[in-house]
Amino acid sequence: ALMDPLTGLANRRKFMDRFKLEVQRQDRHGQPLALLVVDVDHFKLVNDQFGHLTGDLCLKCVADLLALAVRKIDLVARFGGEEFIVLLPETTVAGAVTVAEKLRATVESLNVPLDSRFEPLSVTVSVGVAMKPATQSLTFDDVMEIADQGLYQAKRGGRNRVAGPPDMAI
Ligand code: GH3
Ligand code: MG
Ligand code: MG
Repeated sequence: ALMDPLTGLANRRKFMDRFKLEVQRQDRHGQPLALLVVDVDHFKLVNDQFGHLTGDLCLKCVADLLALAVRKIDLVARFGGEEFIVLLPETTVAGAVTVAEKLRATVESLNVPLDSRFEPLSVTVSVGVAMKPATQSLTFDDVMEIADQGLYQAKRGGRNRVAGPPDMAI
């Protein structure tokens, strides 16, 4: 199984296979490689207020948006729960931040139609940015850990924002 059943996105295993492939490519050609972690803000509240089925619908909508917003050579996967990861081959830190900001803004403008009793639902995401420089032999887990530091910064900074780890100038 390489597909997440709820969203139709790649699952974590498919993403890791692709990550390894891109690292091999990077070893030969030396292009920058970027990874984003995208986490829905206060998603627990969505489930609490509207129920798990609406939560699922919301995740599907976010997944579709993310997949449509990236380039063909990028890969969006569902890492688990309400967390998505995006692999951006041949992408510099400036490019990765631009994509992250685009994804953030696209999700912010999403309206999920609910049944007539409710206003359309909107959610926001926080995004952590990480780079795998060609000169560093980082594993997938290493890069995820760096992206998670960025995500933590974004959450702490107030959510609905993009951040890198503390030592990354964004
Ligand atoms: P934060 O802004 O800090 O990320 O807050 P949060 O509420 O999004 O984070 P938290 O980790 O506390 O909660 C995540 C919620 O996502 C809890 C869990 O029930 C929900 N969730 C995870 N997977 C699914 C799913 O497949 N469907 C639905 N409906 N909810 C899910
Ligand atoms: Mg969340
Ligand atoms: Mg989460």
